[in-house]
Amino acid sequence: MKINNTLTKKKENFNPSDSKTVRMYVCGPTVYNLIHIGNARVYVFFDVVRRYFEHSGYSVKYVSNFTDIDDKIIKRANEEGISFNEVARKYEEEFLKDIDALGLKHADLTPRATEYVNEMIEMIGGLIKKGYAYEAGGDVYFSVEKFPSYGKLSGRSPEEMRAGERVEPSKYKRDPLDFALWKGAKPGEPYWDSPFGPGRPGWHIECSVMSVKLLGFGFDIHGGGQDLIFPHHENEIAQAEAYYGKEPFVRYWMHNGLLTVRSEKMAKSLGNIILLRDALKFYGPDVLKLFYLSTHYRSPLDYSQERIKELEKALKRVLETRKRLAGTGEKTKEITSETGKRLEQKRIWLENEFERAMSDDFNTAKAVAAIFEFIKEVNSALDQASDSLDVSVIKRSKETIDKLLGVLGVDLIRFEEFLQKRIENSKDDILMKLRGTAAYFGIEGDDLEDLILKLIELRNKERRQKNFHRADEIRNKLSSIGVILEDTPQGTRYKIEGA
Ligand code: AMP
Ligand code: ZN
Repeated sequence: MKINNTLTKKKENFNPSDSKTVRMYVCGPTVYNLIHIGNARVYVFFDVVRRYFEHSGYSVKYVSNFTDIDDKIIKRANEEGISFNEVARKYEEEFLKDIDALGLKHADLTPRATEYVNEMIEMIGGLIKKGYAYEAGGDVYFSVEKFPSYGKLSGRSPEEMRAGERVEPSKYKRDPLDFALWKGAKPGEPYWDSPFGPGRPGWHIECSVMSVKLLGFGFDIHGGGQDLIFPHHENEIAQAEAYYGKEPFVRYWMHNGLLTVRSEKMAKSLGNIILLRDALKFYGPDVLKLFYLSTHYRSPLDYSQERIKELEKALKRVLETRKRLAGTGEKTKEITSETGKRLEQKRIWLENEFERAMSDDFNTAKAVAAIFEFIKEVNSALDQASDSLDVSVIKRSKETIDKLLGVLGVDLIRFEEFLQKRIENSKDDILMKLRGTAAYFGIEGDDLEDLILKLIELRNKERRQKNFHRADEIRNKLSSIGVILEDTPQGTRYKIEGA
């Protein structure tokens, strides 16, 4: 198993420090709004990381936090006239609804920052005592120059970092690169009492404290989006390694590429976000996951509706093939022993190729492509004429497909249910519009099919009476709401768009 470690900038052999359990921490959301499909890329990817480790026989201890105290939460609470706690709990719940809708496993532990404030105060006190931090104006800052290896994760020089846009200015800082461990409370803000005065912890200290508390110093994997490398993760390292006086705080750092829109980061502040729950309504969880997973996790991924639609078609083919194999769709044809042998060889190839791809720094793109390639082979095998039926090959093929899709968190049953539901929804939508159209032509009713048939009848009547203009009007109006008429020798048929 090889993992690209952001810290060493190399692909390294991965061995968990305890040979059986992988301990991993992924930075969770700041709970003040609904997540977008950029955020979801991180959670989907690390869900697959976890599933792959489990599939490989490890047990996984997965921790992901909630940042439930922060400037943005306080601002939101003030805007809505409720407490910061209410904002945080509300968006924590919404986040979990989204995670469930995506079909992701929950983290084993989901610590909230506000539940670890005492431990944070203790670490900050220790950092002051050891000379790594200083108090100024009611705040406490980490002094970056005291930690010589600062910058080792992002690989940036202090000059570059100082110029970075994410460095927050403050008149109390000795160096612009210093960062807040404790923020003194301004009037009206929530606060905790501490030896450094009333205030609240900074964002970075949360993750250092909670990850070490729950996973132990020197745990295996720490993940997040690439935008967290600097300053968040750089600061986490500085705090933890300075406080404990040893390294490494984390053995392997993994970072996801960003989701972009026309090459620009998807971010609320840029006004280019698509909420996850909106995307789920259109695409469902399984196609959206395939969209993320068919690009390497470290590459940027540009949002593309066309690409998502292609993947929906591809997943439909997988579904149809899986049904053929199950014999529920088309009747399963016999497979000649020659064809059976070839299919079995390809199946073994798929199993190996999937492992090769996933164990090489989680190359999900290659793994997905291999599954699609196998599906093609299954179809051509099923298309061949037969002399004997090899049920065992079919059974093993089904099991392999289900197992490998499962590692990627893709579920064909859920996908099929989603497709059916989407058709139902589009029918409801069409019925509403159809009633208006029908009323215009003097027809009433509550049933989709009945209304369409009546309109077809009316159109035929108009045509017989040579009122072609009126007949065309009926056809055009129907087409504009998604009901397509086709004239065939057997009479007029209709099709509902998208069904
Ligand atoms: P935030 O709410 O900004 O702290 O982000 C939560 C998680 O989503 C972090 O792991 C970020 O790295 C990640 N993230 C934010 N925006 C994007 C994006 N456009 N693409 C991928 N990941 C993102
Ligand atoms: Zn974090």
